[in-house]
Amino acid sequence: SSKATSDTPDIRALWQKDKDHFIHPFTDFSVFHERGCDLITDSQGIHVQDAHGKRFIDGIAGLWCVNVGHGRREIGEAMAEQATRMAYFSTFNNLSNAPAAELAAKLAELAPAHLNHVFYSCGGSAANDATIRLVHYYFNRLGKPDKKRILSRTNAYHGTTYLAATLTGIVSNNWAFDTLEHLVTHLSEANCYRRPEGMSESEYCDHLVKELEDTIARIGADNIAAFIAEPIMGAGGVLVAPPRYHQRMQAVCRANEILYIADEVVTGFGRLGHFFASEAVFDTQPDIINCAKGLSSGYAPLGATLISDELYEVLSTPQGPGGVLSTGFTYSGHPVSCAAALKNIEIMEREAICENVLDVGPYLEERLSSLSHHATVGDVRGSRFMMCLENVADKATKALLPVEARVGDRVAFEAQQRGLIIRPVGHLNIVSPPLIWTRGVVDEVVSILDDALSATTRSLAADGFL
Ligand code: PLP
Repeated sequence: SSKATSDTPDIRALWQKDKDHFIHPFTDFSVFHERGCDLITDSQGIHVQDAHGKRFIDGIAGLWCVNVGHGRREIGEAMAEQATRMAYFSTFNNLSNAPAAELAAKLAELAPAHLNHVFYSCGGSAANDATIRLVHYYFNRLGKPDKKRILSRTNAYHGTTYLAATLTGIVSNNWAFDTLEHLVTHLSEANCYRRPEGMSESEYCDHLVKELEDTIARIGADNIAAFIAEPIMGAGGVLVAPPRYHQRMQAVCRANEILYIADEVVTGFGRLGHFFASEAVFDTQPDIINCAKGLSSGYAPLGATLISDELYEVLSTPQGPGGVLSTGFTYSGHPVSCAAALKNIEIMEREAICENVLDVGPYLEERLSSLSHHATVGDVRGSRFMMCLENVADKATKALLPVEARVGDRVAFEAQQRGLIIRPVGHLNIVSPPLIWTRGVVDEVVSILDDALSATTRSLAADGFL
């Protein structure tokens, strides 16, 4: 591993190449044009290291994905073995490969009982995109071609292919981008912290369920194909819905022949202490579950759409003589990615990673909550290894700081100066660590955040924002 101690000519050259040629996703170019990138060159366990040799605790598991932690040699070896034995061959028609078949069976075993069929893609956006196509195809095949509309939610994040971006409900994500009109109707997100004044959580839940019922009445169940939801909304601010929300939403969908799609791209693979959260945590039985990210712990790109027996029966019936299910990707069921996922799941089971989340998760929740005394921390929320701080100007009114204060960036910057990477999203800071954090690591992280928040308050005051 390269452990440069300063800006060597090599690092400088790399930095320049990146700045000149790499269009970074979700990047503020007003900052990028000036500062360029931070090169991350090494990673091990709960740490990553930059090109200058500075080491950080990874508080975001790469991007909510490196669930088993960094530098797992046995995953690299499983991938190398597969790549040298048979790196790639088609899975179209009747061809297959061993890791794709093994993984499909393993996913069927881990998923709720009725989800026994797997459609592979290369990530979360593509999984959601493929899902919408399959759902439309399903209703077309049932002779219900008007059932097309998808219900999503404001502040949902489902990715950035054209279809996935259309499902996404974070308004700023689609600034100056187009989405597909008339495909999606966005319901309200379930945001307990900012629910209407004077409403109990249970009244709030009634209110959200009624909105779904009213929307169905307005659009017509005959025109609605599916409802898609993250069990806990991630990028939209780690929003935990009120108790029984998902169950009740699912019941309304079921009564109206509306499919229920759980986007478990973040919540799957241990983040909430189970391989899938839908049934284990929220007592729902989705018709479709999508996963990616933690499925391979980010060691290789992979997404999977888990499909019910009932849907599979329709999808697997040819349209007519010679008809094929004509959707899929060159890399559907890529052997190297599937080998990485199989090894990742083996590690999760062997090391009882889900149990660690169930054990340490409540401690992480409790210790992060202790940061609420800071002037700017309006809300600490989330569940287990999926947490968020919401920064505000005024705790009583929940008023936000002006956008120019860049409070999320400030907190993240101060944390990074102290050796911890967390993710700023507007006025929020997300903590979504590798699932191998211990209580000791949590203590270290909370101590860093405590200092970072104090420093943030000082800098906000110095700049006249507080
Ligand atoms: N769905 C959810 C809930 C996500 O959080 C993400 C990514 O963060 C996606 C879908 C998109 O996944 P990908 O970036 O792998 O396309």
